[in-house]
Amino acid sequence: MAGDGRGPQLSGAAPLADAEQLTRSEAGRLTQDFRVAVIGAGIAGLACARRLFARGAKVTVFEQNRRPGGRAATLRTEFGNFDHGAQYFTVQSHTFERTVAQWMQAGIAARCTGRIIAIEGKTTEDKTASSARYVGVGGMISIARHVSEGLDVRLDTRIGSILRVGSRWSLLDENERSPAPGGFDAVVLAMPSVDAARLAVAAPALVQHLNMVEWRPCWAALLTTHASSGFDFAGAFVNDHAALAWVARENDDSGSERWVLHATASWSASRVSTSSDDIASLLAQALAERFNFGFRPAFMAGHRWLHATPVRPLLERYLWDAESRIGAIGDWCQGPRFEGAYLSGDALGASMVP
Ligand SMILES: Cc1cc2nc3c(=O)[nH]c(=O)nc-3n(C[C@H](O)[C@H](O)[C@H](O)COP(=O)(O)OP(=O)(O)OC[C@H]3O[C@@H](n4cnc5c(N)ncnc54)[C@H](O)[C@@H]3O)c2cc1C
Repeated sequence: MAGDGRGPQLSGAAPLADAEQLTRSEAGRLTQDFRVAVIGAGIAGLACARRLFARGAKVTVFEQNRRPGGRAATLRTEFGNFDHGAQYFTVQSHTFERTVAQWMQAGIAARCTGRIIAIEGKTTEDKTASSARYVGVGGMISIARHVSEGLDVRLDTRIGSILRVGSRWSLLDENERSPAPGGFDAVVLAMPSVDAARLAVAAPALVQHLNMVEWRPCWAALLTTHASSGFDFAGAFVNDHAALAWVARENDDSGSERWVLHATASWSASRVSTSSDDIASLLAQALAERFNFGFRPAFMAGHRWLHATPVRPLLERYLWDAESRIGAIGDWCQGPRFEGAYLSGDALGASMVP
């Protein structure tokens, strides 16, 4: 497995902190003749596209949803906005620290100042200072929007297959139509590995690696309550409940509250086929019981993240099959969080060679 992009092998074993070194040794300028398709506008895909764009390549990003952000997006409803996936992120590496400092300067990221607790039985532990947490200003989606500024991002475009046509890759949507005639010299799959494996059939060595990663699901429930609960925390890790793993609370100007509830992996896994309405009711009930809090929901919805968390990331920065010129990136490569996803995308964007 070599990380230099010259052989037919896949690339890139290195822990998080080493990404900085890779960024410094980036592969140099590209030209508009080098056309790259990035499939997936989560933070990994956008970081990769941003880096390739900065190096001069012609990059097009395709995203199946109407908004960028993937698992770090913000759902807009008539009852307010909900960060229904990642609600904050942490920073471990210097490379990412510098990026986050720029986002803070640009006013799109901020330190999370709310009180964070962990509860277990009758014990409540204050976790506010246990880690520096950052959020997107106005919701996590602000970060994806910021990183995608100036990029050619085609939303609402689900790629169903990629086909070799001559020396280039042609993308087909689910109706077998090409959303971008002309083809691409390289393709980056920026999505959970299990989804990437379905698109990477032309690169069997890549598929073999992609299939090594297992995933856990997570059900989320979004709630708006009519009245204030009186609680003072912004987020709580729930360490003693079969269903609830994390709850987040935000006050509304109108006096009501918005809650996001994340279920445990095992509870979610045993209910992957349950309807989202039933899940929302079950988790709302769990909240009421665990926190001894009676409320009337004004709004309630469930959201299933089928591939929420990679169980054991590969501990590689990214995968790159130099022969087919297909790469794969995401939080399942080097770190199962927002930072790991960003660094994975940035690293492939920095090192890709035509
Ligand atoms: C419930 C939950 C809570 C989390 N909490 C935290 C947290 O507190 N802190 C933290 O750091 N991280 C957290 N995470 C993890 C974090 O959200 C992810 O690590 C990160 O967002 C992954 O980014 P990504 O770009 O690798 O993948 P994704 O965000 O999954 O992006 C993949 C994108 O590809 C698109 N896509 C997939 N297939 C196709 C296709 N065929 N055609 C076009 N587009 C396609 C998807 O729509 C998606 O937008 C959480 C995740 C979840 C689900």
